[in-house]
Amino acid sequence: MPLLARMLPAPLLMEVRRGAVAELGALLADSRVATSGRVAVAVGPGQGDHIESLIAPTLGEAEVFRVADGTVDAAVSLGADLRKGAYEVVVGVGGGKTIDATKYAASLAGIPMVAVATNLSHDGICSPTASLVYEGGKGSFGVPMPLAILVDLDFVHNAPKTLVKAGIGDVVSNLSAIDDWQLGNIERGEPIDGLACSMARTAAEALIGRTDGIESDAFLTVLAESLILSGMSMVIAGSSRPASGGDHEILHAVDQLFPGTSNHGELAGIGAAFCYFLRDDTARADQVIDCLRRHELPVVPADIGLTSEQFAEVVALAPSTRPGRYTILEHLRMQDSEIHDRVGDYVRAYGR
Ligand SMILES: [Zn+2]
Repeated sequence: MPLLARMLPAPLLMEVRRGAVAELGALLADSRVATSGRVAVAVGPGQGDHIESLIAPTLGEAEVFRVADGTVDAAVSLGADLRKGAYEVVVGVGGGKTIDATKYAASLAGIPMVAVATNLSHDGICSPTASLVYEGGKGSFGVPMPLAILVDLDFVHNAPKTLVKAGIGDVVSNLSAIDDWQLGNIERGEPIDGLACSMARTAAEALIGRTDGIESDAFLTVLAESLILSGMSMVIAGSSRPASGGDHEILHAVDQLFPGTSNHGELAGIGAAFCYFLRDDTARADQVIDCLRRHELPVVPADIGLTSEQFAEVVALAPSTRPGRYTILEHLRMQDSEIHDRVGDYVRAYGR
């Protein structure tokens, strides 16, 4: 008898709403995530006190740990604390750095992790990877997916607007990543996962045409759901393929050559727009760029403080940041002079 379905890993609980942090204790008990054991809570340095006072009434027994930053060292130190305390579950409350450090610490301690996102800057909320800084740079570490995902819209409304908008760039870049995957399938016979593609693409399509923005709860809900779906598409694919193509190679190259430039989601958005320009897919390029502009996200190199020459260097380096991943950049194999011309054409077409 053939297997009639495949089992998909999924979080036990997913909620996007206001007031999630304040009701954390009840939410965790309801979902049977933490029933009798000890709960640890990890918070970042910025909002730690505020979060601690909010959870005190419903999660007073929990031990609260401060995560200094998004480094491997901070995650390892938290992991050691978690192991010592024999906790049943750890709840990471905060932005990307706190959540990623907590994810990695939980995997080191061998306990499940609950992610409570307070901003929406990238699709790492639910992904099976933790992006952490170490002496040599920034690395991506494989970890289990969070057991439960909560997004607190009260916090998201108060987060820096540029960080929340950045998540739009990360979601929209899925479209380009999927086109790269399909290219790899056609040109190289790379296996493709239709279900992972449909989740990643649906997430982007739900967002790209919306005319409201981050001031609206309805928009933020779709953005949060899209980021979570993107993370789950990576779990299903078993790799970042459905959400990371030439677009993310470009952002990794910016991180390497010009560290501190812009942020993950903004760079993913520019990368996707430039990849569509390289594919001569004017309809998609225009659609992606309209979306980025509508949300005041950067479109051309000058918007993130880079010259066209610097961006051409980035594009030249990009394929080497992800060896083995076939994208439009590997497909075109452009020489430096051609890259220079194409960047110039892009800036003339879309610069203001
Ligand atoms: Zn990303």
